Amino acid sequence: MDKREFLKTSGALVAGTVASRFASGQSHAQQPAPHENWAGNIHYSTDHVHTPASLDEVRDVVKKCSKLRALGSRHSFNRIADSNANQVSLEHLTSIDIDDKARTVTVGAGVRYGELAPVIDAKGYALPNLASLPHISVAGAIATATHGSGIHNGNLATPVRALEVVSANGDVLNLSRDKDGDQFAGAVVHLGAVGAITRVTLDLEPTFQVAQTVYQDLSFSELEHNFDGIFGAGYSVSLFTDWQKHRATQVWIKRRVTPGEQHTAPELFYNARRATRKLHPITEHPAESCTEQMGIPGPWYQRLPHFKMEFTPSSGRELQTEYFVPREHGYEAILAVEKLKDKITPHLFVTELRTIAADNLWMSTAYQRDLLAIHFTWKPEWDAVKQILPQIETQLKPFNPRPHWAKLFTIPPAQLQAQYTRLADFRSLANQHDPTGKFRNDFIQTNLYSS
Ligand SMILES: Cc1cc2nc3c(=O)[nH]c(=O)nc-3n(C[C@H](O)[C@H](O)[C@H](O)COP(=O)(O)OP(=O)(O)OC[C@H]3O[C@@H](n4cnc5c(N)ncnc54)[C@H](O)[C@@H]3O)c2cc1C
Repeated sequence: MDKREFLKTSGALVAGTVASRFASGQSHAQQPAPHENWAGNIHYSTDHVHTPASLDEVRDVVKKCSKLRALGSRHSFNRIADSNANQVSLEHLTSIDIDDKARTVTVGAGVRYGELAPVIDAKGYALPNLASLPHISVAGAIATATHGSGIHNGNLATPVRALEVVSANGDVLNLSRDKDGDQFAGAVVHLGAVGAITRVTLDLEPTFQVAQTVYQDLSFSELEHNFDGIFGAGYSVSLFTDWQKHRATQVWIKRRVTPGEQHTAPELFYNARRATRKLHPITEHPAESCTEQMGIPGPWYQRLPHFKMEFTPSSGRELQTEYFVPREHGYEAILAVEKLKDKITPHLFVTELRTIAADNLWMSTAYQRDLLAIHFTWKPEWDAVKQILPQIETQLKPFNPRPHWAKLFTIPPAQLQAQYTRLADFRSLANQHDPTGKFRNDFIQTNLYSS
């Protein structure tokens, strides 16, 4: 594969060599300019960014443009949100409407989880799960099946009850789980290919408290016979590793607690030691930007993400990759990747291992599979990383990996497409709402339509 073809396939374009700014606790003031993604590794191929402030204005933009791609909070690492013609940012659609009777919240497409969470918590509600970072928009997160962790927790698209979508001809569609059944399951993880999502309705549950405890140095050998016990030891569990010494450097256990409950976490967890101070996933980094640990209970939205809303963790200059394998093969998959440890570690900030429960959303990475997620936060060293990705993908091939839709990968389109049994149905659904491919960009064309 030559360089141009690779970039087309992976959607990746790293802007030369950027000096790493991987340091915790930088503020929003240092966010990149809007023509770049959050990480700064993608320069979007157009400066035509429309910013409508109402549903009618979105409809006008959609009718006016023959090619268009919706833009969320720009947290994707590949070219999934790119367009070489027009982008429409929904950032000005920021309504939040709670329906107590239906126990739902309906948010404008520009709303980010970190803005939504305190509003619903104040009314006594919660969402079942959150990603590691609260700065991501709801519409953009569900588009790519963004996930948190937890053996019994579906990804962030699973609580979606309804969608308001502006389709290619400017019509407004209201799709819902109750009314549209199977078709709705096709539209939720939409990859930006069904239309411009203007509002999302999410199921709510009663607010809850979480206490977070961190352990250090868990041998991978413990995973061989205790895989589900370890990943199921809390409501949400994450393992971090640098792939050296056959161990997870840290285990973050997020446990649901009842207010007033007295609980002292044991000092040992499968022979890993309970941390005696708050830790950043990269042990030597300051932990100021991380959510509270040491077993101190707090509201769900201040514990489920790893990083606080008021901080920008890792400052943007990083790359991310993530592969999903069936959980039942999780241990073998970890060992397969570990074989590349000496190639991986020099270019890695940290790896995170998480689990996600299966769902029925056609293009979800968890479609009908309980998953182990093997995630890599890389240093911004694209030339080296792009050599390693195919090697990791080869190691994982026996486990039929699905790559994260929004992160960097080099899996060939035919192999990727074979992982999605409802792909043909998804194409029909997208064609039905967008017969001319107005919302289809090169990333979608390459990964979903070419063979
Ligand atoms: C620091 C960091 C941490 C992350 N942590 C996690 C994590 O814990 N778990 C995880 O799974 N992922 C994680 N991600 C990845 C992230 O969740 C995804 O990239 C997500 O899709 C980004 O959403 P966004 O709003 O930024 O969308 P964008 O990146 O702007 O767009 C993503 C896709 O959504 C589409 N889209 C966005 N808004 C709309 C809309 N209104 N209508 C139609 N289509 C739309 C775009 O066209 C594009 O296809 C992380 C990313 C970063 C940078």
